Amino acid sequence: MKQVIIIRYSEIHLKGDNRSFFENLLAQNIKRVLTGFMYTLNKISGRYIITDYITADEPQLLMQLQLVFGIHSLSPGFQVKTKVDDIKAIVSKLNISGETFKVVTRRADKSFAIGSMEFSAELGGVVLRNNKDVKVDVNNPAVIINVDIREDGFTYISTVTTPGANGMPSGSSGKGLLLLSGGIDSPVAGYCMAKRGMSLNALHFYSFPYTSKQALEKVKTLAKRLSEFSGEINLYTVPFTFVQEQINKNCNKDYMIIVMRRIMMRIAEKLAAKNGCGAIISGESLGQVASQTLESITVTNALVRSMPIFRPLIGSDKQEIMDTARKIGTYDTSILPYEDCCTVFLPKNPVTRPNLDRVEKEESKLNIAELVDICVSKAEHEIIN
Ligand code: ATP
Ligand code: MG
Repeated sequence: MKQVIIIRYSEIHLKGDNRSFFENLLAQNIKRVLTGFMYTLNKISGRYIITDYITADEPQLLMQLQLVFGIHSLSPGFQVKTKVDDIKAIVSKLNISGETFKVVTRRADKSFAIGSMEFSAELGGVVLRNNKDVKVDVNNPAVIINVDIREDGFTYISTVTTPGANGMPSGSSGKGLLLLSGGIDSPVAGYCMAKRGMSLNALHFYSFPYTSKQALEKVKTLAKRLSEFSGEINLYTVPFTFVQEQINKNCNKDYMIIVMRRIMMRIAEKLAAKNGCGAIISGESLGQVASQTLESITVTNALVRSMPIFRPLIGSDKQEIMDTARKIGTYDTSILPYEDCCTVFLPKNPVTRPNLDRVEKEESKLNIAELVDICVSKAEHEIIN
């Protein structure tokens, strides 16, 4: 008998021939979050099994594994040779932390002679004999005892199942460049795409001296938290003050934000292409602010031709985004009160329905190509993990 953690995985079941590609990525991601712990990782059909760990580490191992996309659920439990008496011996010693229970047997190993229902009933009898205060309740049990008879000759027994992060293993859906501000939305947008298997690079624009060192540190803290889910993040930070000053000096104030956002997109597209990213990711949500109306998004979208811009939050309410931010542990950092470069030189009446011709007219007052090249050349790179 061995103490184990049973890892059940989700959608990667569906991937046919690509299955081993997804399974290998999942294993890599499991190893990444368990760096520094002692354990053995084994693959059996449809499951990963962790053994040979220090018992006291179990709660932490479970917590780390909950970060891994592609895991459907996790159970601490026991592995025992598939022999009726050995299974019964384990079940007789289980600690039933509730007044009612039921046994659910799954028989992936069809050579096991006893049917699932019959075996569940037998094991239920074992539990009743050894726990005087518990009753069977097949409809709404407080505790479900899972008895998973697998094809590797072992049976896995567990009474607790914790949901995993679901989604797809990091690295299975290419790489995206996340426009990362210090706000609430963009880390959540990064999380959503990482959940679908994207690796992340991130790009942050800052405006010293109008924005502070702390604002930049806050972005690094957010990237660090995201990297716990997504794996290592290449963070690019770009000084943006001189671009904003140029816009402020030369362009109509009301067009300031839209012109600025279009320059950000041009820089993002170049940096993305240079670093093997196949998409730009933004935290925009329809109608949230002037730069996120349909017309504004149309005008910002129009110039990025070589890759999609993913906006996973486009249809989400702020409250929903905040709930996710809390769940993933970015909210408290995001609400620290440091300025973002988007709030520098903010016009009183930004256009909410910009028209492309008019925006291009404002842009013609600048040497955009040069501004973009300068920013790309000044981008500083840091690996966050
Ligand atoms: P957030 O909460 O993520 O800051 P927001 O609601 O404040 O979003 P905006 O400031 O209009 O919205 O920004 C929209 C999106 O543009 C952000 O979600 C982010 O993807 C990107 N963005 C904004 N500011 C920056 C920045 N300084 N550097 C990189 N990307 C940025
Ligand atoms: Mg912002």
